[in-house]
Amino acid sequence: PKLEKKTKGKLQKQICQVVLEHFEKQYTAELGDAWSSVRDVLTSPWCWQHALLLNRFSWSPGLESSLAEQGYQPAFPAALPYLPAAFRCYSRPAPGRFPAQKHQPGRLKDYYLLNAASLLPVLALEVEHGEDVLDLCAAPGGKAVAILQCACPGHFHCNEYDDLRSRWLEQTIESFIPDPLINLIRVSKLDGRQIGDLQPEFYDKVLVDAPCSNDRSWLFSADPQQALLRLMQRKELSSLQFQLLRSAVKALRPGGSLVYSTCTLSKAENSDVINLVLNSCRNVMPVDISGMARGVSQEFSFLSGMQQHELLVLPERGRAWGPMYVAKLKKVS
Ligand code: SAM
Repeated sequence: PKLEKKTKGKLQKQICQVVLEHFEKQYTAELGDAWSSVRDVLTSPWCWQHALLLNRFSWSPGLESSLAEQGYQPAFPAALPYLPAAFRCYSRPAPGRFPAQKHQPGRLKDYYLLNAASLLPVLALEVEHGEDVLDLCAAPGGKAVAILQCACPGHFHCNEYDDLRSRWLEQTIESFIPDPLINLIRVSKLDGRQIGDLQPEFYDKVLVDAPCSNDRSWLFSADPQQALLRLMQRKELSSLQFQLLRSAVKALRPGGSLVYSTCTLSKAENSDVINLVLNSCRNVMPVDISGMARGVSQEFSFLSGMQQHELLVLPERGRAWGPMYVAKLKKVS
């Protein structure tokens, strides 16, 4: 164990046993055999990977060749029909971190560091030029930046309830998006549950990247008492997620679609919430995203047996992306 501390301790992460025990019970029941390899990745932060999403608005000479020298390759197959040409994302199987760029007022950043699975909700949303888009829970802004790599929306409304995180979101947008495109973006600090009533039938696409139990970070909670409290309050998250989804449905125009995503494996916050929406909103239909999942199956490992409108990315060694749940729904009337 001492050796472990020396070699792995530089990441200064300690597993919170109370969370691990809770996950052990819940995820063994929900994921079966798949849980042990997921647990192996989640509890081994030294093998976590990251990807770089290049900023199409800031071209840095030499960046792509320097990435190639360090073993980075395009993270998605170029031939995917829903992948816009401007969308460039790099990853490598080896762990380690490419340096993050500091925020410098007036200077655009060249890339955004992220978990490659967080791009799947954005790809599933399939934003087209000129569409009105709402990112309901937007801070720190990684998916908002990714949406703008794919298309240029008509209106783009980024909302974040938390004051501090909302400032972080504004800073991200400033760091990645140039004039005059930045003027299309509206940042608000509303409770996402109210937006459906405030702007009914206004949007073509809504992303609900919901607050959830963040399995990766919860496992390394510094305070076990606080971790226990959060585990006990987990049920309230499902109810908040359902209300955010209902608001998103209201905010959609008939014919519009929404993508729901979380970074937890928990069924109560994933399929159960989506099933509740499908069972309680008559004007909502599931949208098949299995084609997209097949298209990226080299890069990601998915839980088998999911329905066609949903997917769950399971981290595994060498493809340590996720956890990420994605579901797509359409408002029919
Ligand atoms: N989409 C973001 C990204 O890609 O960078 C990450 C979003 S994070 C998973 C969920 C966010 O929802 C948090 O920033 C949280 O503060 C925010 N949130 C929590 N409750 C909310 C509410 N009622 N309305 C809107 N946002 C909320």
